[in-house]
Amino acid sequence: MEKLFCDSCKTFDKLLSFYTPIKSQRGAEVFICESCALVQTKYNLYNSKNLGIKKTISTDANWGNVRHGKGIRFTDAKSYLEPILDAFKPKNILDIGSNRGDFIKFILTKNYVNFVSGVEPDRTLQSEYVDYYEASNLEVIWEKFENVKFHKKYDFIYSCQTLEHANSADEMIRKSYEVLSENGLMYVEVPEINIIEDNRGVEEFFIDKHSFHFSYTTLINLAQKNGFEVVRNFESDIYNIKILFKKGLKKINLKQEKAVLMFPKINRYKSIIPENRKILKKIVELKLSPLAKKQKVAYWGANRIFDSLVKYGNLSKNDVYMLVDTHMYGKLDASNGFRIDHPDYLRVNEPNVCVILARSSEEYLAKVAYEMGIRHILKYSELFDQINIK
Ligand SMILES: [Zn+2]
Repeated sequence: MEKLFCDSCKTFDKLLSFYTPIKSQRGAEVFICESCALVQTKYNLYNSKNLGIKKTISTDANWGNVRHGKGIRFTDAKSYLEPILDAFKPKNILDIGSNRGDFIKFILTKNYVNFVSGVEPDRTLQSEYVDYYEASNLEVIWEKFENVKFHKKYDFIYSCQTLEHANSADEMIRKSYEVLSENGLMYVEVPEINIIEDNRGVEEFFIDKHSFHFSYTTLINLAQKNGFEVVRNFESDIYNIKILFKKGLKKINLKQEKAVLMFPKINRYKSIIPENRKILKKIVELKLSPLAKKQKVAYWGANRIFDSLVKYGNLSKNDVYMLVDTHMYGKLDASNGFRIDHPDYLRVNEPNVCVILARSSEEYLAKVAYEMGIRHILKYSELFDQINIK
């Protein structure tokens, strides 16, 4: 097991073991720091099997490596960052965890940008940059951020869904501060831990790739401790924390987060995931399978909810006429043996019903499917609530 000290407040012996993630392949154990309330996963590394090789969209802790999450998040981030960046006009840009280059390719179209550095440890993504191999204003460093020695300062740092993966979040924030120019801005986005209170949750939140699970307060505490101040908090959903920082000492007077408030939330989460997975069985048995006997039922969302429906709800080949997903198409051929098509095929194959499996984008996808001419739309949230009448 990794050493048991808190990454944020550095106290020893204050970490309380609280939860063992479902089907971890790294011997994961989730701890809460009694002093600062930061939730962190420690790994028994000796237990690691087949680390980082298999692409899966598992609903359990062994999820990962499809590398599509940042692409999904980018569209949202772009909508509120673009006006700010166009006004601020940063010259040198750093993207920590640049992944498939969604942000890099976007920011390189701006004429105020001089130079962009991307840092990405996964070399299998190199081909995503094939059109940029000759670009003199871009360098992609294929290395973990922790190991990179920087020779310049940056006016804007983009850190989207990266900090939770760090070996040390504290060290990553400290180093970001160091390479940020005096008037520079840094955008940080991480998953929001309070989503574990979602009553319809079926996915394991504490996945093997994440070492840190922030709340708004624990993230701000860590940033303020390292000299950052909050410029703007983009509060647009319950799934992610999105904050723009700059160097500065102005502190928000946060109510110190109390670890004791996190205990009941995690305790409830421990029981709600298995309970909700039983509800999936009923959804399939009472709703989805009978429907498929009469009609052609398409599924939109080759994601972790779909994986849950197959693994825990016994959704079978007979129940699924077709499966489509915009983000997974082309990245993964199939999920649990179900072929993944592009949503455009909905027009071609003309299903009678489309089941929307999504969280924040549920309404949007339902609308798109309807506009494609599918008149019978079923949303996951509604199916779940119909069965889960208490
Ligand atoms: Zn702590």
